[in-house]
Amino acid sequence: MAITEEKVFKCDKCGNEFKDNIYLEVDVNLDGVIANGCVNGDIYKHTCPNCKEHILFLNPITYRDSKKLYIIQSGDEETLKEAKKKFKDDIKYDGYKLYGARTNTEMIERIHELEAGYDPIYCEVYKWFIGYNYENKRLDNPVLNYLNNVFIDIDVKGDLAIILETLKRDGKFDYDAVPFDRLAYEKYRSQFYERFKNVDAFTFDLFDVKNILNDKEE
Ligand SMILES: [Zn+2]
Repeated sequence: MAITEEKVFKCDKCGNEFKDNIYLEVDVNLDGVIANGCVNGDIYKHTCPNCKEHILFLNPITYRDSKKLYIIQSGDEETLKEAKKKFKDDIKYDGYKLYGARTNTEMIERIHELEAGYDPIYCEVYKWFIGYNYENKRLDNPVLNYLNNVFIDIDVKGDLAIILETLKRDGKFDYDAVPFDRLAYEKYRSQFYERFKNVDAFTFDLFDVKNILNDKEE
């Protein structure tokens, strides 16, 4: 059941003050439409009853899937820290895998990834890997764009190899045609799982990929 809190809003347009509920926690299985609002943004919209102006208020939210047993918590570092304590102390959250999202966009990303059966950590690792190869001119821009676009449609199951193999199978990615650091790829491919299997998904962010890889290399 969704947990809400009443909040007073002041309309920017007409100055009217009005009360509306903000959602603090939703379970996608019990509150489907509301939970969907985390993705389309409706959940953060509050409409002034006087002039119908929408006010956008991006409050932190706990997005829960009580069947797949995961929680995505949005919010800044402080909010995430508090939330982690709450999840640990409350028996209601036992057995859930926790994912943090520092922005609402990141929360949407996490939802998509988990719904599609991806491991968000590997998604971040993958993105880092693509970015790394791009920065080092090993992938040209059209290939990078293509990889990012098709990424969500491919069942990666946490393995970068499957993405690249699928692209290759579909004729979308050719090792020989694309300047690509194959050695780096092989190296990371075999090490990714080992390196990231114990990472805390709740505090993990994209910058951690680089740090974790660097730490282990030193
Ligand atoms: Zn108004």
